[in-house]
Amino acid sequence: MADIRLEGVGHSYDGGRTWAVKPMTWTWRGSRAYALLGPSGCGKTTLLNIISGLIIPTVGRVFFDDRDVTGVPTAGRNIAQVFQFPVLYEEMSVYDNLAFPLRNRKYPAKEVDQRVRQVARLLSLEEHLGRRSRRLDAGRQQIVSLGRGLVRSQVAAVLLDEPLTVVDPALKWTLRSKLKEIHRDTGHTLVYVTHDQTEALTFADEVVVVNDGAIVQAGEPAELFLSPAHEFVGHFIGSPGMNMLPAEIVAGVVRIGPSEVGLAAADGVHAGRSDVEAADGLPAGPVRIGVRPEFVVIGGPRRSPGVAATVTGTDRMGAYDLVHTLVGEHPVLVKTEAGALHEPGSAAFLHFPAERTFLFRDQVRCGSL
Ligand code: ATP
Repeated sequence: MADIRLEGVGHSYDGGRTWAVKPMTWTWRGSRAYALLGPSGCGKTTLLNIISGLIIPTVGRVFFDDRDVTGVPTAGRNIAQVFQFPVLYEEMSVYDNLAFPLRNRKYPAKEVDQRVRQVARLLSLEEHLGRRSRRLDAGRQQIVSLGRGLVRSQVAAVLLDEPLTVVDPALKWTLRSKLKEIHRDTGHTLVYVTHDQTEALTFADEVVVVNDGAIVQAGEPAELFLSPAHEFVGHFIGSPGMNMLPAEIVAGVVRIGPSEVGLAAADGVHAGRSDVEAADGLPAGPVRIGVRPEFVVIGGPRRSPGVAATVTGTDRMGAYDLVHTLVGEHPVLVKTEAGALHEPGSAAFLHFPAERTFLFRDQVRCGSL
């Protein structure tokens, strides 16, 4: 399974006026399962098609291990790609559709049969193997397409572009775990494009978050949730996303209006810091405080990091409550256990745990409380 290296790769559809993918250098490491996550229009599909060879990038080079494949068409790259909608030979049986990529590459007949049956078993297609593909519903056809993408063991990479869009939501969870199982078995280098954070977080070894044509952060799911490096990651991952509050650093102290929220620490100096280090670490000026609704605590001693707020309402979500508060005019959401009583209009002190509260400047994380 190949390492796929993008060196200064960027793509513009309009002769360089705007960049769908801004020039970037990035390596997809062999045998890992990646999710490429970002909102609609951020450049995910363009990036995937650059890897597959459907698009030749405007600038930069693409390498599969040490082989420069920049000008090599898709057929010469030994990749498998699955699209959002089924791509099948409708008159062929499901078996023949699954066997097609293997026969095309001259796999021995015995191995063809073994692989087809193995993939069919994992994707619960066994009872459909003899049916014509056009007789299946769209969701099942897409599962066959997925099977076709996964059936070859020897591929440089498997590229999946929102492959579960037309699949029944209830089946998606099962399919994602099957996909994980197949990946564990084959060790493909796998890139899975999605705009759905649940899909990305439950599936991938590593999630690559893209916004506006650029990679803003990549990491394991927990890392992105617990330690976002960019405001966009804070917003986009989590449900609801991270609270963001405008604040000011004055002599090493973080303030919202007249209220002291806590001491500012530059990134990496959480432990054993002194006030002097904190003041040295982060220059005075505006910042935004980011803290997830999961980590804000209503109540707590007023001398701990935090700020006074007013409760405005509570959403009863079943498994938890979402308490709406205002700090001055800025909303802050707090996830609490279900059934807690917080009267609208009541005053509350919001505690911001230092190790889970970050400071952002120009959208990029620069420190913590
Ligand atoms: P989606 O999830 O909606 O498919 P995406 O993240 O995959 O979005 P792309 O499809 O790569 O994003 O599109 C990135 C940008 O490039 C968008 O602004 C889109 O409008 C533009 N774009 C994509 N394909 C073309 C094309 N063939 N010609 C011109 N512009 C394009």
